[in-house]
Amino acid sequence: RFFHLLLNPRLRRARALSMSWLVFSPALLLRLLCSSILTLLSRLRSYWTAAAAGPPGQRSEVTPTSVNYHFTRQCNYKCGFCFHTAKTSFVLPVEEAKRGLRLLREAGMEKINFSGGEPFLQDRGAFLGSLVQFCKQDLHLPSVSIVSNGSLIRESWFQKYGEFLDILAVSCDSFDEDTNQLIGRAQGRKSHLQNLYRIRSWCQQYRVAFKINSVVNAFNVDEDMSEHIVQLDPVRWKVFQCLLIDGENAGQSALREARRFVVSDRQFEDFLDRHSGVACLVPESNEKMRNSYLILDEYMRFLDCRGGGKQPSRSILDVGVKAAICFSGFDEKMFLRRGGKYVWSKADMKLDW
Ligand code: SF4
Repeated sequence: RFFHLLLNPRLRRARALSMSWLVFSPALLLRLLCSSILTLLSRLRSYWTAAAAGPPGQRSEVTPTSVNYHFTRQCNYKCGFCFHTAKTSFVLPVEEAKRGLRLLREAGMEKINFSGGEPFLQDRGAFLGSLVQFCKQDLHLPSVSIVSNGSLIRESWFQKYGEFLDILAVSCDSFDEDTNQLIGRAQGRKSHLQNLYRIRSWCQQYRVAFKINSVVNAFNVDEDMSEHIVQLDPVRWKVFQCLLIDGENAGQSALREARRFVVSDRQFEDFLDRHSGVACLVPESNEKMRNSYLILDEYMRFLDCRGGGKQPSRSILDVGVKAAICFSGFDEKMFLRRGGKYVWSKADMKLDW
């Protein structure tokens, strides 16, 4: 058998091959092990990427054109229907907030709106001012705006930061001080309306577009605000229908109980009809409002309102904008339908300053 093997070249090669398997098997085993680990890692990576891109059916490319950053939940008012209540006292360090804003800008953001809680509460407005200046000066954002209750704004803030701000919206639900007290839109007995008129004149003086936001609710639904609104002459008067949000102003874990503030669609329509002569009125029913805002909370997590509550994504600071925005529940079509894109840069507005 030995001579037969020695003389037959085919058998010799086969034998050599089987011997090499025996000689190099530990190395081959190692190679096999490595390649299996690499395959496993690559499969895990694709799984993670798919998971980060969001649930199937929602993996569309959403651009964060217009973002609402609620950097604080703290507020000095106590509105009974508040949609964004003081569930935490957390505020990001300013440099982290700026990092997140830069990520949003790189992802296509054109407009930022700072909101709360009350955004002028943190560091007496210095935190907000620093972000406003950063967004206009460093990020060159076409539009920088704020929604505030107006009670904590000082003229010195306008002097320092007014040039970097495009629009300031002040919330006002009634031109009757007693109604504001009933709603909770007040701090003690201080006049909400005096602040409103004062801010209007500062906006004119420091060249900031002035806007008013009102929430139609059971306490103001029969009011006629036309005269005051025309007198104040805002660039936009946003009129919202009081909205219930589970965990914020409705349900067991909520800090507010807004059911007594709710008005029907019919009542909301009547309010709009009564004010149909006010040209700057922009109505927002519950249907238009619910999913048409890109909302970032104090941790820079997108909030998905589709389930009736606010479901947070992971923070854009941890997973980036693209991975987080898939969980925002944002309805881009509704955003466009409600007129979310408008002339929002003060440089493009024909304002009578
Ligand atoms: S002003 Fe009223 S609605 Fe706005 S955050 Fe404060 S309590 Fe809420």
